[in-house]
Amino acid sequence: MKLHGIHVPHRKNTASLPPVRPEPPKTVTIPMSMHIGRPAKALVKRGDEVRVGTKIGEADGYISSPVHASVSGKVQKIDEITIMNGSKVAAVVIESDGLQTPDESIQPPEVHDLDTFIDAVKNSGSVGLGGAGFPTFVKFVTKDLSVFQEVVINAAECEPYITSDTRTMLDRGESVFKGVEALKKYLGIKKFIIGIENNKPEAIANMKRLASQTDGVTVHVLPAMYPQGGEKVLVYNTTKKIIPKGGLPLDVGVIVINVTTLAFIAEYLETGKPLVEKCITVDGGAVREPKNLVVPIGTTIADVLEMAGGLKTDPAKVLYGGPMMGIAVPSLDSPILKNTNAIIAMDAKEAKPPRTTPCISCGACINHCPLRLDPREIARAYKLANAEELEKLCVDLCMECGCCSYICPAHRPLVQTNKLAKAVLRNYQNSKKEGK
Ligand code: SF4
Ligand code: SF4
Repeated sequence: MKLHGIHVPHRKNTASLPPVRPEPPKTVTIPMSMHIGRPAKALVKRGDEVRVGTKIGEADGYISSPVHASVSGKVQKIDEITIMNGSKVAAVVIESDGLQTPDESIQPPEVHDLDTFIDAVKNSGSVGLGGAGFPTFVKFVTKDLSVFQEVVINAAECEPYITSDTRTMLDRGESVFKGVEALKKYLGIKKFIIGIENNKPEAIANMKRLASQTDGVTVHVLPAMYPQGGEKVLVYNTTKKIIPKGGLPLDVGVIVINVTTLAFIAEYLETGKPLVEKCITVDGGAVREPKNLVVPIGTTIADVLEMAGGLKTDPAKVLYGGPMMGIAVPSLDSPILKNTNAIIAMDAKEAKPPRTTPCISCGACINHCPLRLDPREIARAYKLANAEELEKLCVDLCMECGCCSYICPAHRPLVQTNKLAKAVLRNYQNSKKEGK
């Protein structure tokens, strides 16, 4: 099968820059929802003293995740903020005392079997750090360990600009492999594949060096072709297994885990320090000093940009994430979330949208879609509000990678239309379920 996808400029300007850890900001704003699933319930109120790692939000329900203070100081208020998907959520605003005093309760978790391992991962506050934000522990819940055949460690980092996973592989390689040992021990998995694009030679060398000292780990070097890190694409390209329509990697015996998430889990098992900080890439034409930063979760984007030397020009667009799948930030007061891996502040030239012209039926969007979808027909069906046709065209499979929009010579807003079309199909399917 031919690998579809596109070649994009890599712009990995910060790959050789080890992350720096600036002074903590004066305040942080920590939303109770930084994950897929139900928001956490706030456990603190105005005036409460907190320390780094104090639990400030309790997981609410099965698919949820606890939230911890990322600075020591005093709770200023419980605010309501708008998050990326446009919904409003409670957020704990903490005024930092600048001391970063750790919570006294922090200590390595007691882990001796699968159940205690899953509890530990849940208590750590871990969610998919590569961008998905799915609570990590859910991936490990099973009644039958034999379903876990292999782990694909997602180290592709195929989005332009972003190098935070690259830095994990260079600076925290030992933690990645301690994570491998933990999954071997508690999940009984023997086979691990690290999928890395070939544009990261130093990270590949470090992973190969460590893999040579560890049983069962292979490093799979992939062509640098976007979206190599898309879950379905990565699983196929590393294992030749095809995840069925509407299915999960586990349907073909695979757990996919982001390389930084795995390193974090290993570090949590050793220290008990929950997820309170993130390494993020700060780059883009408007940023004075592109770099990798380790910042407390909840640091505002305005503060992050200051930590990167400030802006050299007014940004025309600021993104959470990279230019292919990133989402425009609602405001520079928006906070760094658990799953933020980059802030890209684009100048006017980078952000200028090209002029849209009529479709010339060239088929490039279909030829470059990794999932062989037909964005041109999806756009037609969407315009006609034909939900049955959208269902036939499998628009719900679209992973919103943006390859179709990128390659379209007419600059049609295909991925944007797909997002809207998916919502139309969802409503139609929900109405059908409710018998309307
Ligand atoms: S790539 Fe653009 S111009 Fe070509 S068929 Fe698709 S929508 Fe039409
Ligand atoms: S249709 Fe969806 S999955 Fe296919 S290229 Fe476009 S955005 Fe990516």
